[in-house]
Amino acid sequence: MSALVCRTTAARFPPNEPIWRSPAGGLLDIDFEPRFDRVAIERRPATLWRYREAIPIDRDDAIVTFGEGLTPIVPAELGGRRIWIKQEGLFPTGSYKDRGATVLISQARRLGVRRVVEDSSGNAGAAIAAYCARAGIACDIYVPASNSRSKLAQIELYGAALHPIPGSREDTAAAVWQAAQEHYYASHSWNPFFFHGTKTFAFEIVEQLGWRAPDAVVIPTGNGTLLIGAWIGFREMRQAGVIDRLPKLYAVQAAHCAPLALSPQESSQFRPKATIAEGIAIAAPVRVEQCRQAVAETGGRIVTVSESQIIAALRETLRAGFYCEPTCAAAVAALPQVDAGGEIVVPLTGHGLKAGETLMKLLL
Ligand SMILES: *Cc1c(COP(=O)(O)O)cnc(C)c1O
Repeated sequence: MSALVCRTTAARFPPNEPIWRSPAGGLLDIDFEPRFDRVAIERRPATLWRYREAIPIDRDDAIVTFGEGLTPIVPAELGGRRIWIKQEGLFPTGSYKDRGATVLISQARRLGVRRVVEDSSGNAGAAIAAYCARAGIACDIYVPASNSRSKLAQIELYGAALHPIPGSREDTAAAVWQAAQEHYYASHSWNPFFFHGTKTFAFEIVEQLGWRAPDAVVIPTGNGTLLIGAWIGFREMRQAGVIDRLPKLYAVQAAHCAPLALSPQESSQFRPKATIAEGIAIAAPVRVEQCRQAVAETGGRIVTVSESQIIAALRETLRAGFYCEPTCAAAVAALPQVDAGGEIVVPLTGHGLKAGETLMKLLL
């Protein structure tokens, strides 16, 4: 039987309890035994729901899907390396956050939730808003009032209610926490169902490489929704005997905002600076311990890249024909620091069409 487990106290809760953190305030994980039947998986439609027995939603009629996933993986030469590019911008809302949203909003529907709240002005907010639209679930997105309207347009156009909160990012967090007392918090950093969607990124890589693990995966990291998801996914496949080792996971941060790379002493002095990799500009990631574990346990590294390195990598990636948003280029910029050999996978996490204005200002 699966269960929600508190990371702080190890207390266990039924899988369909409508909670997003434990009563003790701790982060929740999902204890769950996935199954992989390769023959059955290969026969199914090309969506991430082909890994059905590895996704902890216990009723098929709850599933909220646009037929997303199984994004193409193609060889390329970038940053002086031969790598695999996984095109994670090719999702219905334009980023891999749809992996988390399809599973999390399916669970919300399973719970009979009528309204969810979330705080993200970026790709996570857009993904949650789109899947709520599909599910017929009302969606309130809390954002700092200082956000530009163009950034919020996609969220608003999906029909979500925007709540601009005056003040700092912390004031927005406080407002959503207040709302989460009454409504289900569809948080991409707190809610464990989001990570049991992003883990399908690992499943797909293994299947697409012929049911083998690559040597390394290089992931742009802020809150770690893709990093931790990948770690969960590769571990589940190793546990099930599908692969026999874990790839090294490299967590890439912008040097301007790299809390993972700081020692405890440095952390107290830490003042983040603005970065063009705005998708990973997270000063205080909620699951920081899990991010560090994912890297340490797999023998990977935390890598930081400068603004000029990101811009150079962005230009190179676009000119290779991959139209991606600036955040993605952080992973490409990190390639010279990746000490693993063999097969390296780099996700391009968000579509360039989301960031036309920014790309134009930066590069034209
Ligand atoms: C969300 C996101 C990431 C990774 O961010 P996390 O905060 O680690 O989840 C990377 N690139 C893009 C384009 C994103 O939207």
